[in-house]
Amino acid sequence: MTKYDVVVIGAGAAGLSAGALLAKEGKSVLVCEKGPYLGGRALAVEDQGYKINIGGHLIEDGGSGLTKIFEHVGKKLIHGEVSAEMPVWDHEKGKWGSIRDRYATDKTELKKVIKALVNTSWEELDQWDDRNLRDWLTQHTSDQGVIDLFEFLAVLECLTDQPWDHSASDNLFVRKMHYEERRMAAYSFWPGQGWAQLWQDLADACTENGGEVRLNTAVSRAIIEDRKVKGVAIPQQAGILRNEISEEEIIETECIISTLPVWNVLDVIPEDELPDWYSAQIRHLAQDKFRVAWLGLYIATDEPVHLYNPRELSTWVKDPVAGLPGFFFTQSNMDPSSAPEGKHLHVMGGVIPGSKGRDKKYVRETFDKFEEGMGIMHPALQKPLWKRRTLVFDPAFGVIQKPYLVGQFRPHWRAPNIDGLYFASETFKSRGIGVDRAARAALTCVEDYLGGRLPGFEETWRY
Ligand SMILES: Cc1cc2nc3c(=O)[nH]c(=O)nc-3n(C[C@H](O)[C@H](O)[C@H](O)COP(=O)(O)OP(=O)(O)OC[C@H]3O[C@@H](n4cnc5c(N)ncnc54)[C@H](O)[C@@H]3O)c2cc1C
Repeated sequence: MTKYDVVVIGAGAAGLSAGALLAKEGKSVLVCEKGPYLGGRALAVEDQGYKINIGGHLIEDGGSGLTKIFEHVGKKLIHGEVSAEMPVWDHEKGKWGSIRDRYATDKTELKKVIKALVNTSWEELDQWDDRNLRDWLTQHTSDQGVIDLFEFLAVLECLTDQPWDHSASDNLFVRKMHYEERRMAAYSFWPGQGWAQLWQDLADACTENGGEVRLNTAVSRAIIEDRKVKGVAIPQQAGILRNEISEEEIIETECIISTLPVWNVLDVIPEDELPDWYSAQIRHLAQDKFRVAWLGLYIATDEPVHLYNPRELSTWVKDPVAGLPGFFFTQSNMDPSSAPEGKHLHVMGGVIPGSKGRDKKYVRETFDKFEEGMGIMHPALQKPLWKRRTLVFDPAFGVIQKPYLVGQFRPHWRAPNIDGLYFASETFKSRGIGVDRAARAALTCVEDYLGGRLPGFEETWRY
């Protein structure tokens, strides 16, 4: 029987970060991934000459999270340029404008709010898990422009469907990080090495330090005995019988780091080993209505489409036909290799309530409207050379960052009653956005397992 110090389940941002960090610390580590690709939800695939980054667009790390993990394991995460110019569609006037026109803030008020935020400790922000962003803002300003700007940025980062219903703590953590690390309200970048290479770099960091990454290797169950982790089971080649119970390879370990999101973690971790209240927390967060869902549209054109800068991210609170909040950018301007020569690949999304994700009629009809709206905002999109529609729901972007669904209201990263079982997922207790949040969740678990902070990460906030 093979034995490892740690088995990591999943090779997405969290699993690869955990694997690379543990291997660097000299632990024997095996990362098991059920799919054929690295990157999990943020994988990159090719389709008729177009490279689509299904679940990864921009990375929101000022430098202390995923970027630092790369540095620590001897790799470099390249921060590709994204234009500071952000066109915003004005749905009342039916035209584009710049974010500066749309959110005309009183500069003195804005500076006052930023100062208050920077002077608020991470621990104080933790106290805001049950309240919304607007409550925090109105304690510091009555300027509607400042309130609108903060809420707009929160819609954009967390893709919340209702702008007034953002968690204060989760959003202010990210805003504080960006102000402190980058001196700007919102910072994001395109990975200079491309999304597929990004994950390969982390996998290489793991294997170069003696770790192993196995693709096409699904863990069917965690083996737990007497409240201790004993190993994982990996079914052998599935037979031809439906629902066949196949032979299993047993891998011994005293530590499992699961990176499975709340929606499917209980398929692998036996629920009856967990306390009822803890699995109830998981099931509560896994409800459809708490999924961050959207309609993803990829359109290629002959003509370039942008307003002020080819590398801009443009956004809106309501598109002209479906009335959905959303975003648009031209991926081939970020990474020219993502489209055939002379073609332009555009990525756009319209956020829908998670509760609508299973309603096929709603999805189809809303897609038609959304696409029509995109054609009004950018007429060149009315003549697509190539297009793909994807529903982002299963898996979702994440669990919605609303009050009572973040921070202390999420299941802890350490199983409360089982030695050696960790949950490094951005859907569990964690802070940040997307892949950076997943990487920070991994850092939290790795440090907890190792029993101390890793050198160089003293200033990095995680949970
Ligand atoms: C369409 C879309 C767009 C997004 N855009 C962005 C963005 O622009 N920026 C950003 O930062 N984030 C974005 N995100 C969010 C980001 O993709 C996720 O937050 C992040 O990838 C989560 O990483 P993870 O490692 O926690 O989980 P996952 O990526 O979900 O990794 C879990 C892994 O476990 C594997 N697995 C499942 N079951 C098993 C099993 N039984 N055995 C072994 N392996 C198993 C899965 O195949 C998967 O690879 C987006 C997400 C989506 C869906």
